Amino acid sequence: MQIQKKVPIETITTFQNKGTISELWTLESVSDAQELIKSGKAWTVLGKGSNTLLRGRSVDIVAQVSPKSEMPIVSGTKLTVSAGTSGNRLLKLCQENGLTGVEFCAGVPTTVGGMVTMNFGCWGDEIGNHVESVGIVNSDGEYLEIASEDMAFSYRESRIQKEKWIVMTATFFLEEDDPATIQSRITQMIQTRLEKQPLRENSFGSIFKNPRGKYAGQIIEQLGLKGLRQGDIHISQKHANFMVNDKNGTYEEAITLIQHIQDEVQKKSQVQLEPEVQIVP
Ligand SMILES: Cc1cc2nc3c(=O)[nH]c(=O)nc-3n(C[C@H](O)[C@H](O)[C@H](O)COP(=O)(O)OP(=O)(O)OC[C@H]3O[C@@H](n4cnc5c(N)ncnc54)[C@H](O)[C@@H]3O)c2cc1C
Repeated sequence: MQIQKKVPIETITTFQNKGTISELWTLESVSDAQELIKSGKAWTVLGKGSNTLLRGRSVDIVAQVSPKSEMPIVSGTKLTVSAGTSGNRLLKLCQENGLTGVEFCAGVPTTVGGMVTMNFGCWGDEIGNHVESVGIVNSDGEYLEIASEDMAFSYRESRIQKEKWIVMTATFFLEEDDPATIQSRITQMIQTRLEKQPLRENSFGSIFKNPRGKYAGQIIEQLGLKGLRQGDIHISQKHANFMVNDKNGTYEEAITLIQHIQDEVQKKSQVQLEPEVQIVP
């Protein structure tokens, strides 16, 4: 296991706000995850940090699962990978092996662990629809293989957050398709995303969950809050449910902006917006 001290948050999250975390553990095996649990310290696990607003004072340790903790296994149309595997690498493996199903994730900086935890979804599909099982370490330090139907996948949620599991692996069930067709679907998905979202800027994806039957982005846009700024952070002009850090934005600035939008939306639209972003104070 690798342990790094005083790690800049800019290097471990896509929002890249200022600040440092005291320790970053890279978990290479189940026994590393068990050591983390036994440490008795406060910790959180991160993938690419693409749905996380991190300050890190509430935790002693931030841990990441190494992409190398498990070699990819292809068995027919099933694919098992480490939780630390990036979404890009997952799609490359699918494309090379002629396996289709998860192209909707293309273009987003993710890891398999983060996607499974958040039940990543878009364009009418969710990662939970393609998961066969998830290998986790529970809070007693036991390694268990959890079947998809026991994961309680729902809108941007799963059992993982509630039970504080550490995801080590995930197995996907996919379907056969022509590698060239899969590649063109991936390219198309990235293109669509580039048109709709600030993909090349520092963001953490959706700030808020969509309220039932409504779009958070639409509500924020209709209130004229696009472009609203706090220090070095502003609401994206491209998509009102995205927050962009120009360069030197801080956790505190992001929180101020989140609370301001919640207050405005509550006051003017009588809707209580719930953060989708995972906030680690
Ligand atoms: C430009 C952009 C576009 C996006 N578009 C979408 C979209 O269309 N749909 C969507 O759903 N999301 C979207 N997101 C948000 C984000 O990419 C997803 O939520 C993604 O699944 C997060 O992956 P991650 O590895 O970065 O997770 P992180 O942000 O690192 O972590 C997210 C949560 O998962 C937990 N976690 C991560 N790894 C593990 C693990 N191994 N074990 C236990 N818990 C773990 C963390 O503790 C945290 O609670 C977007 C983000 C960006 C920046």
